[in-house]
Amino acid sequence: MNAPAAPATMPHVMNTYGRLPLALSHGRGCWVWDTQGRKYLDGLGGIAVNTLGHGHPKLVPALQEQVARLIHCSNYYEVPLQEQLASRLCEISGLAAAFFCNSGLEANEGALKIARKWGHDRGIERPEIIVYEKAFHGRSIATLSATGNPKVQQGFEPLVEGFVRVPLNDFAAVEQVARTNPNVAAVFLEVIQGEGGINATRTDYLRQLRRLCDDKGWLLMLDEVQCGLGRTGKWFAHQWAGIVPDVMPLAKGLGSGVPIGAIVVGEKARHVLGPGNHGTTFGGNPLAMRAGVETLRIMEEDGLLAHAAAVGEVLHGALKADLAGEKGVVEFRGQGLMVGIELDRPCGVLVQRAADAGLMISVTADRVVRLLPPLILSADEARQIAAILCPLIKAFLAEPRP
Ligand SMILES: *Cc1c(COP(=O)(O)O)cnc(C)c1O
Repeated sequence: MNAPAAPATMPHVMNTYGRLPLALSHGRGCWVWDTQGRKYLDGLGGIAVNTLGHGHPKLVPALQEQVARLIHCSNYYEVPLQEQLASRLCEISGLAAAFFCNSGLEANEGALKIARKWGHDRGIERPEIIVYEKAFHGRSIATLSATGNPKVQQGFEPLVEGFVRVPLNDFAAVEQVARTNPNVAAVFLEVIQGEGGINATRTDYLRQLRRLCDDKGWLLMLDEVQCGLGRTGKWFAHQWAGIVPDVMPLAKGLGSGVPIGAIVVGEKARHVLGPGNHGTTFGGNPLAMRAGVETLRIMEEDGLLAHAAAVGEVLHGALKADLAGEKGVVEFRGQGLMVGIELDRPCGVLVQRAADAGLMISVTADRVVRLLPPLILSADEARQIAAILCPLIKAFLAEPRP
């Protein structure tokens, strides 16, 4: 199927999104304004990117200063801000080193390269990576192949080989692969699946995976691109399980809106890639690094981990209280400021209706209303999100099904 016609107002932009017919002009805190002057409460945070909301008074001057000082210089030279951000990421993760890139798919692409090289270094000629149903890892050829959504893959075959797919939270399925497939080099999964519908990996399952990876000499690679960076109330979602991964791709929230990605690795995976094995022109540039350093600094200074957990409770509580007993609501999912409400039918129309009512949301996996607000969301704003969203969901569920 081809996408619908490009919006009349953007005829020269390739039409790869179903966009709402509105354009945002500026933002402040958790609020954004469109070019018509209408105001919206930002329940989406640019898809888990705007960690500090919009126009943050501590971030803006730091980035302005950095833009005036140095934006880019290439990786031919040492970039002290890379070391600053890498050492901070290692401190908060317990890992050992980082590689910087520009996006989530790039971080994941690098992780896949590490997994394959890890396999080759161990004499596995055709290394394979265990991946998951409903996973999302990006839209490059390799990361869409690792993704567990046929819609993302369709039309782009042949897919990259070397992936074995299993269902989430089914440890017997992974054990089965371990018994029968000698080529496995790594397990690769999101701690909470984002695009797949806010599906949490169970903590006991994560611990089982950690032990299995240790036993088998596999790398445990946790895609924290969406669920990481404080969203669940800890720096990284896997920390709720008390485990440490070997490889952790990051992106989205790390730069508060400035494009950035990172592969953070533990001791085990630290020396898999060497000089000449991987690179990037833009990755690790001073502007993006400064955005990362300042984002982590401000998160710490302002106590945003505890804040995200507390306001997340308020948000989940308000949504549940208002939607309690609604027959069409299948399940509330998520943790902290990563929220999914699964309905019993496709509900993409709610995105426009919410915008009309002054709220930014998304719908993912066809029937899951998703909220990923900035981590600076106040308790009052959390209640406002519920107050706008719940009546829309109820009215929608009361309509006859098409
Ligand atoms: C968004 C996302 C990606 C892809 O990130 P891009 O920056 O869009 O390439 C990868 N993995 C997860 C879990 C994501 O949510």
